[in-house]
Amino acid sequence: MDQVESPHAVVPLEAGAGPENPPCPACGEPLFGWIAQKPGLAGAVRRCESCGLGVVGEPAGAEEALGGLDARREGETIRIENRASFACSLGGAGWSGLHPQARHLFTVEAVRRLVARRDQVVRSRRWRPLASLAATWQTLLNSVTFGHDVALGALREAPSRPAAQPWQRRIDGLASIVLALPALLIALPVELAGGLSGHGSVISVRVELF
Ligand SMILES: [Zn+2]
Repeated sequence: MDQVESPHAVVPLEAGAGPENPPCPACGEPLFGWIAQKPGLAGAVRRCESCGLGVVGEPAGAEEALGGLDARREGETIRIENRASFACSLGGAGWSGLHPQARHLFTVEAVRRLVARRDQVVRSRRWRPLASLAATWQTLLNSVTFGHDVALGALREAPSRPAAQPWQRRIDGLASIVLALPALLIALPVELAGGLSGHGSVISVRVELF
């Protein structure tokens, strides 16, 4: 059900809840369709318009989402690919964070909501400039390649989804080389603007008990 807005009637987000709009595992508001199912994704992708969390496939509960968050722990911090980033807004289905193993697509607000369930708070957040720049660069390349995340897949052995046909993979390889520098020249200002305004691509958050 679409949210209806008019000067006379504002329907709250909760009114959109239903089988097609299951509750967000982080904040409980209804999830709305974002990206249809396609090869390389475990299911259709929904997103929460309140906290920004994205969920690939049918959403489960907060426990599963917290498990996904814990899997991203690096020592004292948790590193997320930010679904509220400029790169994600720009890339849509081509966003580099939408890799084949992706299940929950976090934002800082979604992390805040989730960890509050176990009496934790987000103490600080830090933009990761180099990782962010790489993610934005890859997002731009995804808009011209048949495969997904193939450049970072080759450079870093990151999760990727190569194109199905050999000729497509050859074109992708060539395009990634020829367009590497132009894509970097676009990615730099996009990511700089994103990072400085709190919408960077990769963010580390420090989570502690109350
Ligand atoms: Zn939410």
